[in-house]
Formats: sequence, structure tokens, C-alpha cells
Amino acid sequence: MAYRFSFKSYRLPLRAPLRTAHGVWAEREGILVRLEEETGRVGFGEIAPLPWFGTETMVEAEEICRKFGATVDAGTLEAVPARFGCVRFALAGARSGTCHLIDDKESAMRLPVTALLPVGRTALVTLPAKLEAGFLSFKWKVGVGAVDDELGILDDLLAALPSYAQLRLDANGAWDRRQAARWLKRCAERPVEFVEQPVPAADEAALLGLAADYPVTLALDESVTGLAAAQRWQGLGWSGVFVIKPSLAGPLEETAAWITTTKADVVLSSAIETALGRAAILRTALTQPLTRRALGFGVGEIFGDRRWDGPILGPVLDRSWISAVNPEEIWNALN
Ligand code: MG
Repeated sequence: MAYRFSFKSYRLPLRAPLRTAHGVWAEREGILVRLEEETGRVGFGEIAPLPWFGTETMVEAEEICRKFGATVDAGTLEAVPARFGCVRFALAGARSGTCHLIDDKESAMRLPVTALLPVGRTALVTLPAKLEAGFLSFKWKVGVGAVDDELGILDDLLAALPSYAQLRLDANGAWDRRQAARWLKRCAERPVEFVEQPVPAADEAALLGLAADYPVTLALDESVTGLAAAQRWQGLGWSGVFVIKPSLAGPLEETAAWITTTKADVVLSSAIETALGRAAILRTALTQPLTRRALGFGVGEIFGDRRWDGPILGPVLDRSWISAVNPEEIWNALN
């Protein structure tokens, strides 16, 4: 089958720069793709690379798109190498129509969403409003300030958390093994759902050692950019959580099949894509039982613009969110 192909690159400022252990992040670059079948059926996809996370770069992705030309056949689309996970995610989505509106027959599934708290002591200021809004799951980025300061804030946060709520911590690989051990000791038998990427992805021995030494559940994020990496960790006997950013991991169908087949304990997470890419992921999350954990999509208004953010995502996701996102409108809104 041949498709008419077109793409649009975007560069969108974030509403508020995102501070993580990787540094400050102020704008998002990506590409929207459009595939039109001979029948006239149109599908959209989003390429949202995170090179510092181990994906292809924006330049590489644009080069692939340019090489496709105005008409491309299915074989060429399928021949994109596995390491271009973001491009493959977008192309598969555009071909399968996962971005299209959810139809009436689809499930009435509802999934909780985790709320992202700001780094440092500001987390305590933000928490009450998020609780009021109905969130039950919270994520706090750590490894940004000094360990002692952050451990103090952790105590205050946990004290402010009602018994029905849970906190996930994400260190983005910022700690060394000794710092991580201090944290894990402190988290034991407290309402900490898991600690994400306590040490750098390169320190595999420390990750496995910490998982064996402490009762707190650990999650891999930076360690598992692609599906192949997640499968390798499974082979190493990893029994913790996998944070999967589907928009970096290749075709959604392949990611979903891996989760279903291996019963991997996953958190599905945003890679800060526009509502177009997110809709594709959330639609799959609502139509297949892939996870029992709160979705990592509670990043709020990323761009501060409804066109790219889509509707505000509250504490629970249902199909109304997806129904309100129109990929064609997002495509048309980009110059
Ligand atoms: Mg993370």
C-alpha cells in the first residue's frame, strides 16, 4: 500500500520550564506526521524525541521524514530501524488510527492519574489543591537539592498525605549508591509506592543490589528507554516496576503485546508530547488492561495552550478526554 506522507516540525515553549536532575527544560521540539491512504483515510502520529533519554535526535527524525518524500509505501515505513523508536511510534499510530476518536463500543474503563508535585518545598504548597481535586497518587522529583533537605521535606510530605494516598519518588538517576541507600532506608514501610531510577542507568549492579537489599519497590525509567532494554532487564530478573514512555518505545501495539505477554508491572508515562501523541497512548491504555498503576500523565498544562495540551487531565482518565482531542485540528493549528 502507498500513502501520501507529510510532516510538520514544531518547537513549543513549555508553560513553565521543567526542572529535573537532567537540568532545566524550556521548550519541546517534535514532529507531527500525516499519512493518507489511497482510500482517503487519514491518520496522524507524533514524533517526540528525548535525545538525553537515549532516543534518536530531532535532526535524525527529520531526515527520515524528508527521505520518505510525498509518497511512501508500507515496506519503507516498516523498514525504519528499531533504534528510531519515536519515529516508529508515530508511523504505527498514523497507520493504525490510534489517534482517531474513541468509538462508542469501547470500554468504560477509568484509570487513575498521578499528580506531579514541584521539586523542593514547593511540593508541600501544591499538595492540598491536588488532594482537593481528587488525586490519590503523587509523584515528587528528588535528587535536585541536598539529600538532608529533601529527606526533611519527604517527612513533611508523608505527614500531609492522607492514608488513602501514595507517593512515588523519582530521582532521575541523581544519587550514588550510598545516597540511594539512605533514601530507601527512610522510605521503608511508609506509603511510598516506588522509588524511580535511584541511581544512573549505567550502574546496573547498584540497581540490582538496592532492589535486593531494601523492601521498597524500585522502578526503572532512564534504564528502559526502548522495549529491548526493558526485555533485557526482565532477563536479568528485574521484579520491580518499568516506567514505559510509549512514545519513545516504538509501535504501541508492540509495547502493549510485550506488557500483556510478560505481565510486566508498568507505569505508562508521558514524554511531554502534545495531546495528539498522548491521545494515542491513552486510547490504548483505556482499551486494554495494561496497568493497575496510576498513569504518569499528570504533568498538568505543559504548554499552557489548549491546542497542544488538550483538555485538563484530572485525577481519573476516561474516554471523554480522548474524545475531546482532534488530531486534525492539532495538525491544522501548526504552521
Ligand atoms: Mg522518571
